[in-house]
Amino acid sequence: MTEKTIFEKIINGEISASIIAETDLLIVIKDIYPKAPIHLLIIPKKPVRDVQSLTRQDIHEIVPAMFSMAQYLGETLPGAAHFKLHINAGRDAGQEVPHLHMHFLAGFNAGVAK
Ligand code: AMP
Repeated sequence: MTEKTIFEKIINGEISASIIAETDLLIVIKDIYPKAPIHLLIIPKKPVRDVQSLTRQDIHEIVPAMFSMAQYLGETLPGAAHFKLHINAGRDAGQEVPHLHMHFLAGFNAGVAK
């Protein structure tokens, strides 16, 4: 059996995290080492390793849910109307945690609280 990733442990409630939003398919947490004033991680609850591992069904369910969540965060979080989305897909591309996640980076105008 493969070792659980940090994100799987957060989804299972074994490790605490700052949870911003949750749906039946996704969890959104604050990145522990923020690289922007607002840095969130949109994480599918299903332990898909990376973009390369998405099934056709995942592409029709999880992927739209992730973009829908990004849109919702941009609409509802103060200072997050303009944002960057970033996915590292594979270790050589900088993916550290082998559980698919999309970085949501925003708050580039001064004065936005973390
Ligand atoms: P990546 O390099 O795309 O795999 O990004 C992994 C991200 O997860 C990094 O930006 C880390 O700062 C973040 N991270 C790692 N551990 C935690 C944690 N326990 N809670 C929140 N974010 C984390």
